[in-house]
Amino acid sequence: MKIVELNVRSHKRCEMIDITAEIGRILREKELRNGTITLYTPHTTAAITINENADPDVLHDMLYGLSKLVPLDPQFQHAEGNSDAHIKGSLIGASEILLVEAGKLQLGTWQGVYFCEFDGPRSRRVKIKLSES
Ligand code: ZN
Repeated sequence: MKIVELNVRSHKRCEMIDITAEIGRILREKELRNGTITLYTPHTTAAITINENADPDVLHDMLYGLSKLVPLDPQFQHAEGNSDAHIKGSLIGASEILLVEAGKLQLGTWQGVYFCEFDGPRSRRVKIKLSES
């Protein structure tokens, strides 16, 4: 199957955007029953992750925790001034693989799929490859 692109608009510098429903819509549109979905974001200051979708405080705390882990540091040399975003992007990672069975994403009860923005607001893309197996 061809690669599908999902456009994501972020509204803050750092933000976790739930894209689970969009992934489910693409799954139904492309009629993938059994297989895998690979998500990949072609950006150096963004990431994809899977985490809790029940308590929004978890998303807040993840962003807060990452900002404590990688604060903006005056000794960073990169002229764009967004080295913290590059580091966070690599820490979280640009891709995820999701399992699909009987036409359904095999996520845990409390899991959602998130696009992670670390240098927004921007217009972003997620490339999605559906593989039947
Ligand atoms: Zn940069």
